[in-house]
Amino acid sequence: MPTQPRARTKIVATVGPACRSPQKLAELVEAGVDVFRLNMAFGSREQHRETVGHIRDISTRLGPLAVLVDLAGPKIRLGELPGGQLLCHAEMIVKIVRGETARGHDELVTNYAALIDDLAVGDRVALADGCVTLLVEETSADVVTCRVTQAGQVRSGQGVNLPGARLKLPAMADKDHEDAQWAAEAGVDFVSLSFVRSDDDVRQLKECLNSHGSSAHVIAKIERHEALSRLDEIIKAADGVMVARGDLGVETDVAEIAVVQKRIVELCSRHAKPVIVATQMLDSMQQSLRPTRAEVADVSNAILDGADACMLSAETAVGQHPVAAVRMMNRIALATEPLFRDRVPKQHGERAAGAVHAVTQAVVGGAVQIAAELDAKLIVVATRSGATALAVGKQRGFPPVVGVSDSETTLRRLNLYWGVTPLSGAPIEPRAELLRFVDRWGCHDGILAAGDRVVAIVGTGLVDEAHNVIYVHEVVDRRTAGA
Ligand code: PEP
Repeated sequence: MPTQPRARTKIVATVGPACRSPQKLAELVEAGVDVFRLNMAFGSREQHRETVGHIRDISTRLGPLAVLVDLAGPKIRLGELPGGQLLCHAEMIVKIVRGETARGHDELVTNYAALIDDLAVGDRVALADGCVTLLVEETSADVVTCRVTQAGQVRSGQGVNLPGARLKLPAMADKDHEDAQWAAEAGVDFVSLSFVRSDDDVRQLKECLNSHGSSAHVIAKIERHEALSRLDEIIKAADGVMVARGDLGVETDVAEIAVVQKRIVELCSRHAKPVIVATQMLDSMQQSLRPTRAEVADVSNAILDGADACMLSAETAVGQHPVAAVRMMNRIALATEPLFRDRVPKQHGERAAGAVHAVTQAVVGGAVQIAAELDAKLIVVATRSGATALAVGKQRGFPPVVGVSDSETTLRRLNLYWGVTPLSGAPIEPRAELLRFVDRWGCHDGILAAGDRVVAIVGTGLVDEAHNVIYVHEVVDRRTAGA
């Protein structure tokens, strides 16, 4: 088991050159990572395949881990730049040219061939999540000439945004279909789609994954203005959501980011869908061992908004201190989560209507209240698909939740659900055997001691597809009791 005390908030870490080795990946897990994100906009499929292999190896030692494949979607990105990067000085003239590789040191290429035809004099082009901005000054058949209005450095593969423009790109490009097929074959747990505009986009990815035999859960990345007017439908269609603040802060008014984040997270709580808050959470830790106060407050506030997971992007992919960034995120979450202890547990049935069976919802709400009243040290939930464990986590009760399942897929999926730790190898039935297993595991790991109370949520099968039983169990230290 990992040695660090683990936060209830889940940590998603993006894999890149800074952490791709098996040793670094294992260090990240020990520091607090639950889900690894493979960004298909960067790196080769071969590299990603190797990474999935390393992650699966590590999980045999350290417990179930989840893999999220992030499809680039209809996102315009820079192509290959000479030396991999371009420093754009203020007022410098930069040319957008056709092709996949830029040759000159003042040239940019993109993966969207029609961009050169679409741009007009006076248009604004934002690069690298809006860190660099260009103003179009001249266009010709093959070259768009721009002036740098906001200086900065851009790297190959970074995003290109045309704020407010409605581009006629398909929901999934050919590469996304190929990447989704690859993700299905690699047996990954989550697949996210960038630049979702509607619930149809989500369904298209689900159909694509299903057609390749995958039941991976689909995460809709909310980063387009158009998505904000269709949030309800998108969240209902998806299995989870990512607040992709990088592009969202360019495509919409950056001043509204916190307000939009709160709206998306609140809607995800209502629909009982896991939600990841992403991008620039500890950005300064790419270079520094300490985050800024504002970054620390941002992570805390995302957790208090109701985020199930916080994501690290460049911090772990290309930063100088990937492990320190994860440790810091874990520490911030640990410092924030006790605030949930004083909150009144959410009234069962009030939220997340329809997400699980009405009987399950009521039983989950009751179990969380019983656990609070009895100061239980642990809630155990036997879960087939993971939905009941998610419902327990969404209540934000304080006792940690352990999810047990006879499905490895479900156990891996639990890594995205707030407060829920997957526990491998537990017998689901008979119940007495399950509780004995929990006692032995909990006492061995120092999580439980003799006399502690544990609340278990299970189903007897008497109500179809529902969890209808709550057990309250007092722990016996079976190592000393000899059982
Ligand atoms: C984002 O835009 O915030 C995001 C997570 O997507 P990407 O890293 O693909 O730009």
